[in-house]
Parts: sequence; structure tokens; C-alpha cells
Amino acid sequence: MTTDATPLSVSKLSASYGVVPAIVNVDLAVREGQVVTIVGANGAGKSTLIKTICGLVRPTSGKVHLFGEDVTGLPPDRLVAKGLSVVPEGRRLFGEMTLLENLELGAFARSDSVAVKRDFDRVLELFPELRDRLSTPAGTFSGGQQQMIAVARALMSAPRILLLDEPTIGLAPAVVDRIADLIRQISETGVNILLVEQNAETALAIADHAYILEGGSIVAEDAAAEMAKSPEVQRAYLGI
Ligand code: ATP
Repeated sequence: MTTDATPLSVSKLSASYGVVPAIVNVDLAVREGQVVTIVGANGAGKSTLIKTICGLVRPTSGKVHLFGEDVTGLPPDRLVAKGLSVVPEGRRLFGEMTLLENLELGAFARSDSVAVKRDFDRVLELFPELRDRLSTPAGTFSGGQQQMIAVARALMSAPRILLLDEPTIGLAPAVVDRIADLIRQISETGVNILLVEQNAETALAIADHAYILEGGSIVAEDAAAEMAKSPEVQRAYLGI
């Protein structure tokens, strides 16, 4: 059991769909100030891992600790209140609702209106391209902008740790670079980050620490810069 205040610590976490295991005995940690990435191919179990951490999939065994507290199996709304927020794969915006309404939803559980307004202003500073379009329906933005809105919405809950599920998937290279810069900027504001990615090149360039997930299990762990130099990782994930 973790007794320190590590932002996120996962131990021996397993989850299955029916009898089919999707993640098996996963151990990982996001330490204070870190961007941590989990790199894995299609179907490796990345989304299941995120969903199990954030209470959408029930673990069959193992523990999740948030800042030292056992939060295993707590539902997403309880975790948001404890400082964990998720940007799901596919963004899940409310497309008919305006950008502003989507951002307000991110803050729905907060009653501290002065702090919400301050965070709203800070979030818009991070995303200048969204600033003048607050009354535009979210569904009409480009794919990259919708990803930014999903991140902005998650930030409106004032998370201490942010989980990002494949934020660069399907985006053009210039937009991927912009999202990568944003993730670093968000980290510099003091938010701890767990980034799940198929795009190993980008993920390893942004992250401090990295894990490789294959067939539902962690098969390697190292500093991200070291991981990027590993011949196996280069061959399997970087096309080198
Ligand atoms: P992707 O990059 O395609 O999103 P992933 O690494 O996120 O892949 P998961 O979506 O977690 O992988 O899937 C892990 C395994 O669990 C896969 O074999 C997948 O087919 C299976 N799986 C995922 N969701 C379900 C579900 N709702 N019911 C049954 N099996 C599922």
C-alpha cells in the first residue's frame, strides 16, 4: 500500500471484459511534477487502463491511490472532486452546446465562483485560438480545436492530475505539435499528467517517464528520453 502523497499510484491493477482480461497486474506511478506516458499499440489496453483508474471499469484486482488515498473503484464524479480529471478518447464534447457551455460543464461540481472565473481566464490564456468563439457550437470546430476544448473543459474542474487518452489521434502534424506544447504548458502550471498514446514519438518527446503497455501488461519502464533510445522501442514504436 502507498502511504506517501504520490499524485497517482496504481498497483497490481487488473480488469476484464467478461472472462477476457484487458489489463493484467499493472503497476505505475505519476510523481509530483511529472508528465508520465503509457505507450501502446491498438488494443494494448490503454483505454481500459484509463477507464479502470477513473472508475468507469471495475477492477478485478489491484489498487488505485490518489495522493495517498485509496480511491479504487470510486466513480468518476467522486474522483473529479478529489482532483482527478480525464480527457477521454474521442473527446466526447456536447456538440450542439456552445464552447462556453462545454467549459461551464467542466466546472459543474465547483461552487467557488471566484476561483472558477479565475481558472476560466487562465484556461483561455492557454487557448487563445478559442477565445473569440465562446458562443460557437462545439461540434463545428476542427478536430484539433475540439481536442483543445476537451482539454480546456477538463482543466475547468481544477484538476491536480489530468489523464489524457490519445489526445493526438487523427490530427495533422502541426496540430499534434500544438497539443504537445499545450501538455507541457499545463504541466508547468503544476498539474500532474498521465498521457496514454499510440504516437510514441510525440509522447516520449513530451514525457518525463514512460511505460510500454503490451497485451494489457507493462513490459518496460524508463525515463522517457532513455526509452526513446531503446532499440526495441525504436523498432516497435518509432519506425527506426
Ligand atoms: P485503442 O488504441 O484501439 O483505443 P487500447 O490500447 O485503448 O486500444 P482497449 O480499448 O483498452 O485498448 O482494449 C483492450 C482490449 O479489450 C482489446 O482486446 C479490446 O478489443 C478489448 N475491449 C475494449 N473494450 C471492450 C468492451 N467494451 N467489451 C469487450 N472487449 C473490449
